Formats: sequence, C-alpha cells, structure tokens
Amino acid sequence: MSGTVKLTASGTEARETHFMSRSASGAETLETHVMSRTESGTDARETHFMSRTASGTETLSATDALIAREDLWGAHNYHPLDLVIEKAEGAWVTDVDGKRYLDCLSAYSAVNQGHCHPRLLATMIEQASRVTLTSRAFHNDQLGAFCEELAELCGMEAVLPMNTGAEAVETAIKAARRWGYTRRNIPDGLATIIAFENNFHGRTTTIVGFSSDQSYRENFGPFAPGFVLVPYGDIAAVRAAMNANTCAVLIEPIQCEAGVIIPPDGFLRELSELCSAQSVLLIADEIQTGLGRTGTMFACDHDGVKPDMYVLGKALSGGFYPVSAVVSRRDILDVFDPGSHGSTFGGNPLGCAVARTAMQVLQDENLVARSAEQGSWLLSQARTLKHPSIKNVRGRGLMIAIELHEPARPYCEALKTRGMLCKETHGTVIRLSPPLVVSREDLEWAVEQLGVVFG
Ligand code: PLP
Repeated sequence: MSGTVKLTASGTEARETHFMSRSASGAETLETHVMSRTESGTDARETHFMSRTASGTETLSATDALIAREDLWGAHNYHPLDLVIEKAEGAWVTDVDGKRYLDCLSAYSAVNQGHCHPRLLATMIEQASRVTLTSRAFHNDQLGAFCEELAELCGMEAVLPMNTGAEAVETAIKAARRWGYTRRNIPDGLATIIAFENNFHGRTTTIVGFSSDQSYRENFGPFAPGFVLVPYGDIAAVRAAMNANTCAVLIEPIQCEAGVIIPPDGFLRELSELCSAQSVLLIADEIQTGLGRTGTMFACDHDGVKPDMYVLGKALSGGFYPVSAVVSRRDILDVFDPGSHGSTFGGNPLGCAVARTAMQVLQDENLVARSAEQGSWLLSQARTLKHPSIKNVRGRGLMIAIELHEPARPYCEALKTRGMLCKETHGTVIRLSPPLVVSREDLEWAVEQLGVVFG
C-alpha cells in the first residue's frame, strides 16, 4: 500500500491511496482510493481499479473491478465463478452487467422458496421495523410460535433454535453426548458418535475433525476425539462400530456436498432399526436435504424413517436470515438446562418471524410436491444426455447430479456463459438444484443449455 496527500490552495485535502495485488499470471491489480476533505468536513471517495499487464494499463470492467476488490480485501477461502450478482428474483439472478442467469445452486439449497420471495421480504421488513433482537434473557413474541410450527412440521415435540447449520450440528452433538451420559450412563468423557466417510456437516473445528476430506482438515488440528467414521451405506460397518459407549449416529440421508450420494435402498431403514435396538440416537442432518429439496419434506421420508433428531438450517429461513434448529423429542432436548447452551442470536424475533413465513410458503405453494414433480422430469431429461464424459446421472427431487469422468469446472464455466449457474462439487460432479419455485419452462430452457454443452 502506498499513499500521497495533497493540500490545495483552497485548503481542500486530497488523499490518494494505492493498493496493489499481483496475480499468478503476473498481472497487477491497482486499486486507487481518492478522498477529498473539504472545509464542510465532507469526504468524497472515488475508487478506480486498473489492471497493469506487460502490454499496458487499462481500467477494469465493473465485473473485474468488483472481483479484484474482493480478491484484494477478502480471504481466499472460496473459488467462485467470475460473475458478480447484483439482484435476484425467483429462480433467476442478474449480474452487474444486466445478464440474467438461471440459478441451479440455490445458495446450496437455502433459497428453496426462490430468491427474494415477496412474502419473506414483507415479513422481514415488518418484523425488522418492530423488534429484531431481544436476547434470550427475555421472552419475545415470535419464538413460541416458531417452535410450535416447526415441531409440528417435523412431527416432533421440541425445538432448539440456532443460526448457522454448523451450530445446529454442534448442538445436536452436545445433546447426544449429554443424553448418553445422563440417560444411558455412559462413563464420563467416553461417549462416541458414529459418522460417515465423505460427510459434510459444516466447518467448525469439531466438525472438520471428523471429516474424511483432507482439504477441510489440513492444519486445523488438534481435533476433538469421540467420533468414529464408517463407509456410507454400509450397515455391517455401522453394526461393527457400535459399542456400549455409542450415543448417536450422525448421517446426511443424501450426501449432497460429497456429490449427491444416495444410500442403498433400505439402508436408512436398517440404520434406524439398529439404532433403536441399541438405544442409540439417530441424528439426521437435513440441513441441505430437508424442507422439500429431495421431493419429500425430509429425505428420511423416502425410506419411511423418523430420526430422533432433525438438524435443519438453510431453507428454514428462505435465504433471508440465518436460522437453524435441532428438532427432537422432549426427553432428548430436556438434557439442556439454563446455562448449558445458547447463542446471542438463536431464537431472535426477526429470525423466528422470517422462518415462520418460510415454512408457510413451502406449504402454501406446494413446494414439496413441485420438487418431486419437476425433479423427476429434470432427472429423466438429464438422463437422455449422451456424452462420453458423463459417467452417471442421479438424484431425488430437485437434488440432481451429473457425474463426469473428468473435472466438472469447465462444463460449469460453459453453462455459465449460456446463462445457467451450476457449481462443481467434489471435482467431477455438477449439482442441479434450482429453487423449488422454478417453472417447467425454465427447466426446459435449462435442458436445452445442457444439450448444447453436452452435445
Ligand atoms: N450440514 C449440511 C448437510 C450442509 O450441507 C451444510 C452446508 O452446506 C452444513 C451442515 C453447514 O451449514 P452452514 O454452512 O450454515 O454452517
């Protein structure tokens, strides 16, 4: 960073600050902030982005300038496609150049209800103009109704609200361990939880500690003990891993981040029976699969399974505000007493109000049935694609994967150029998971684009 300050005759101070970054290709990005301070004390600030390469200097386009700014000031823990979204509505987003794209990722299934749903927006504004945050030191008028409505939606008895998905997973882990010590008399400090290879449950140190993906874990240790990993879908391995200290099994009923891995038929049912026979809690992480995404309210419903705990997030608030929750039986959530767990924002009235409307929209607009119907049509169409790179096409509801024999990123780039946003997962898988409000016409258009890219 470098800077210059100039004092003009009128006493106006102009300050220029330069920030430079150099990309791998050798190109430099130069960000210049020009600030002027006048007698009236107002600051005017202009920002210019230039790219300097061996062949000269040019002003960057709006897209490149915004990406350069993010790159210069933000941490580099994501690898986004190079477009900058400015607004969105329903299943479509618009970038800063006015180009529209069909969103086939839905913020990892957080916007099942569609972007900027008008009812959610109205609730957000209405509730934000009354009260947003009260702290749990007092009651608020939204929390009780939120808990009741969510518990009823899940056919459960009690709700513990948090904010992000990872926090809800942590909450479920705490509940399961405490239940194991107090209800099953597991010796203190020895409770274990069985999880699955290739799991994705979030990014806290405890959670990445039991990930089998090295890129999620590398150099973040030491990790918490008490987790045992077994192959996904292998009931014999789960049985073999269980012992007197096992308090819970934590599972994604479909492993979405791992590449939309669907367990073998009957596996969830056998797992549920094994857990009840052994007095082990079954925790279903339905943060991504839940709330209609896979064509049923919960992905566990495909196998007629009711877990002991649902862990929910993402679409629980339709993309407006982070709301997550553990939904379970009274005897399980009653392991918590005042002071044993909490969160400043968990259960706040703004989040509760938005989540109540998000659940209502799911039901009023029949989004679960829509997901089943649109999803089975899209899956059947995707299966007609004939391309040597396609290894497998699979899915449930509007959670569909096209698995390739080669890296998926170039195909995602090509789809982006044609106005369709998908993001590769686990290198070789393209996930198709548009908002559940997507129309058949939009999907027909998407199938045309897939046909061109995989033509
Ligand atoms: N669990 C599952 C199955 C997820 O897909 C995710 C996020 O993608 C999480 C947990 C973590 O949620 P969050 O990113 O809100 O912490």
